[in-house]
Amino acid sequence: MADMVAMGRSLIADPLLPEKASQGREKDIVHCIGCAQGCFDNLFKLKHVECLCNPLAGYENQARAGRTSAPKKVMVIGGGAAGMTAALAAHDKGHQVSIHEKTGRLGGQLFLAAAPPGREEFAQFARDLARQVELRHIPVIFNSMVDEALIQAEKPDHIILAAGSSPFIPELPGLDLPHVAHAWDVLENKVPTGTRVAVIGGGAVGVETALFLAEKGTLSTDMVKFLLVNRAEDPETLYEMATKGSKTILLIEMMDKIGKDIGKSTKWGMMQDLGRFGIQTLTGSKVARITPEGLEVEQGGTNSADQGRHRCPGRRVKTRYPIGISLKRYRHSL
Ligand code: SF4
Repeated sequence: MADMVAMGRSLIADPLLPEKASQGREKDIVHCIGCAQGCFDNLFKLKHVECLCNPLAGYENQARAGRTSAPKKVMVIGGGAAGMTAALAAHDKGHQVSIHEKTGRLGGQLFLAAAPPGREEFAQFARDLARQVELRHIPVIFNSMVDEALIQAEKPDHIILAAGSSPFIPELPGLDLPHVAHAWDVLENKVPTGTRVAVIGGGAVGVETALFLAEKGTLSTDMVKFLLVNRAEDPETLYEMATKGSKTILLIEMMDKIGKDIGKSTKWGMMQDLGRFGIQTLTGSKVARITPEGLEVEQGGTNSADQGRHRCPGRRVKTRYPIGISLKRYRHSL
């Protein structure tokens, strides 16, 4: 029985939320996914608010062009976040749009972004966008690899290429060894990862992949609750079981800090999780080669694998780390 209900980020992500809710259209709401990437992170950079889920947020006046008087045929290649959003924008301006998606579902790399712990809501965004596409009856052609013949047959006026980003693969001796895997394959549980893992690259993807692996073998929230309410274990033991998984993980970064490309509002929590899960970090360290037994690392800065006790400024030290699997570093632009 409130006189007023205030919402913050939910209304940035979907300004029509109150209208949709009052009409009983909850399924049509585009949810805030709590990423903080466009709102809080921008505020920390003294920029105006934007939103990962709403490209018009912060650009309402500039971006609201009216409907076109000359509708065009638009082919969107890729049914991920960018492809679906572009298709929605083109449709809303009156164009005739179709989406060609090479897999059997919409969402693309949002599902990769949803894999690390605490990032599950990225999958909700994939579902919300797919719902918006469905609501507008935009045709989606699944399992469609667009080639020249298809383009000739369809004859679109415009093509929007939103086929997703590709991993950045550094040149590194040993990348072709069988125990080396791409982070994307790891996040999709496509490859076994053993018990000793080195993650090469301590940016956002490296940190999230390390946390994803560190969570393997830990107790789930439901299990912790079950054991707690039944007083099966003391809280200390439960904490251990919730944070100590089945893998030993080493995160290696060339620069002097881990997570330089992670926004301020989420970085602190992720850095805490690295400590909580016992993930070792090694900064100022360049992987020189991957060997069948492990890694050769050149260090010229702080060695944080041994808790920062050892500094070797200006010195290049080659160290060998035995591992089970290493991950190629990659960049993505979600
Ligand atoms: S940027 Fe992320 S956290 Fe902020 S309002 Fe948008 S979806 Fe929510």
